[in-house]
Amino acid sequence: MENMRKLIMTLMLAFVITGGTVGASRAGRIPTGCLPSVLKQRLAEIRRKFGPVTIISTIRRGARIAGTGRRSKHADCRAVDFKIRNRMKVWRWLNRVHKGGLGLYHGPCKHIHIDNGHRARWNRGYCG
Ligand SMILES: [Zn+2]
Repeated sequence: MENMRKLIMTLMLAFVITGGTVGASRAGRIPTGCLPSVLKQRLAEIRRKFGPVTIISTIRRGARIAGTGRRSKHADCRAVDFKIRNRMKVWRWLNRVHKGGLGLYHGPCKHIHIDNGHRARWNRGYCG
């Protein structure tokens, strides 16, 4: 189980690093049209209030939640991961206003996850 978790984390890290080095051209291909309107509106609001957002991930076909095996909201394009300056400030604001899932990822990823599921809050030291 621990080895599997390490493997998943390594693969996810590789994905994030690849996305980062290829830059805007790759980020531009991440689809956002499939996101529910509540998340599109939330992203627009974040951009207005806090500045540019770099989308890391939206839909990931067949995605499972690391360590649980449960189906991820990313599998159905009901979640978005993004990077932004002043991440903690943005996270504190989202913690107040966002009604769905809100995840804060530290370590190499440093991204925020939001989804349109039920209210949930988590912090992770790894990518996911
Ligand atoms: Zn996510």
